[in-house]
Amino acid sequence: MWILDADTAVPFWRPRQTIAPAVLLFSTRRGGVSRPPYDQLNLGRSTEDDGAAVATNRERLLRAAHLDPARLATAGQVHGTRVARVHSPEHHPECDALVTSEPSVVLAVTTADCMPLLYHAPGVVAAAHSGWRGTADGMPVSALEAVCTLAGCAPSAVQVAIGPAIRGCCYEVAEAVAARFPAEAVRLTSARPRLDLPTAARLALLRAGVEERALHDTGACTSCEPTWYYSHRRDHGRTGRHWGVAALAESD
Ligand SMILES: [Zn+2]
Repeated sequence: MWILDADTAVPFWRPRQTIAPAVLLFSTRRGGVSRPPYDQLNLGRSTEDDGAAVATNRERLLRAAHLDPARLATAGQVHGTRVARVHSPEHHPECDALVTSEPSVVLAVTTADCMPLLYHAPGVVAAAHSGWRGTADGMPVSALEAVCTLAGCAPSAVQVAIGPAIRGCCYEVAEAVAARFPAEAVRLTSARPRLDLPTAARLALLRAGVEERALHDTGACTSCEPTWYYSHRRDHGRTGRHWGVAALAESD
């Protein structure tokens, strides 16, 4: 069960019950210093937003979660399914997911409609970026397998959280894209098919052995809630980016 602390200075989604020593969170667009159209907590450097504002926003979010901004590790995000094992704070260009067993390394993936996924198993955390292409190609299960390998555990020992993403209410796709997904993840009630990435991820993870009760979905649609989230599709590309963050914090 995940909750959004709406009344804090930097609101973010987190597990209702702390999973010590892990810190897992999904950011929103609130609580930062960026100006429109990147207002407020834009965390993406690949935008035309002021770089100093982005740096301030990143620091604000991580400090609010008691994480050290100097321990950040990021992924290049190339819409693939490769998972990089992270040993220290660094950037991994050719991957879409990060996994680590190192305490205090802060994993972050960047999204603004694509689905962020966070994983936790004893002694291991992971973060994945999964758009339609990555989800169709198996990113959710690739990251799960990387977690199980590193933790030496079965999929039934892994917790997975699905963050704010564009969903079946809003995400119109081409017929050829919809055809790559199970029928349960596609809605056919309007002119064009609409894709629900979280449903696709959920089905794949359950089939791979994750327990239903270990799958947590924020339920948030980035396109439906402009006061809370950036949406690349809704905002025609001129928008900010959220983070999905996972870390094994030493203590705070
Ligand atoms: Zn929606």
